[in-house]
Amino acid sequence: MIRFEALTVFPDMFEPYLSRSIMGRAKARGVYTFEAYDLRDWTHDRHRSVDDAPFGGGQGMLMKCEPLIEAIEDISSLGDEKPHVVFFSPCGQRYDHSVAVDLSRKSRVLLVCGRYEGMDERALELADQTISMGDYVLTGGELAALSVIDSCVRLLPGALGDEMSAVDESFSCGLLEYAQYTRPAEYKGKGVPEVLLSGNHAAIDAWRRKSSLERTARWRPDLLEGAKLSEEERAYVAQIIRQEGCHDDE
Ligand code: SAH
Repeated sequence: MIRFEALTVFPDMFEPYLSRSIMGRAKARGVYTFEAYDLRDWTHDRHRSVDDAPFGGGQGMLMKCEPLIEAIEDISSLGDEKPHVVFFSPCGQRYDHSVAVDLSRKSRVLLVCGRYEGMDERALELADQTISMGDYVLTGGELAALSVIDSCVRLLPGALGDEMSAVDESFSCGLLEYAQYTRPAEYKGKGVPEVLLSGNHAAIDAWRRKSSLERTARWRPDLLEGAKLSEEERAYVAQIIRQEGCHDDE
């Protein structure tokens, strides 16, 4: 059981996503709990303002530090255990499978969602971890927070119907997932690999491993360095990469 909390100026953005499908069922089964806090509840002025103009000038508004710091301190003091505090920023650590695995082992995670042009630097000092979803800029941290919750929850036991699903997926063994097919076995002249219809599980596993290797070598060769491969497999991917290189020169 993991408890996620979000500090945001849009607390109602989360429920529609988290109440549906796998995330909704996982919550109903008690795999995780979620609570959103409205940052405006920690403002003290009539307009409930959470933002102000940056010192030194420049575009846009920044999130003020006082409501953020007061809110994080108050929320942290609720319950027996302090949360692991995550901020979102394009300047943070790049999010990936291994960061998700580490986070999914925590018991309480507070996700602090930025808006506007970002935050007063003094609030960022409360972060245990700052995460970036990638080299692009979102309008707010809410989508980042939902991505973190979704990707962590599906790693936990009881979240997916089939316990093996998360074990077999892209990144779980350092490779991309193999190609998959479902019915019909033939569509407008396009068939599916014969071996998948054979019922021969050893042959299917071998085909899938090869498919994973090929796709990773072609699309994400950067992942191969950290993947566990046999010598034979290393030679195979090296050959694919050489072939791809030849195509690039054409
Ligand atoms: N001016 C900032 C971007 C602010 S975007 C900059 O150039 O770095 C507003 C908020 O959206 C950020 O505070 C952050 O919480 C969220 N956000 C935007 N892009 C993100 C990304 N790539 N990863 C994680 N959070 C992001």
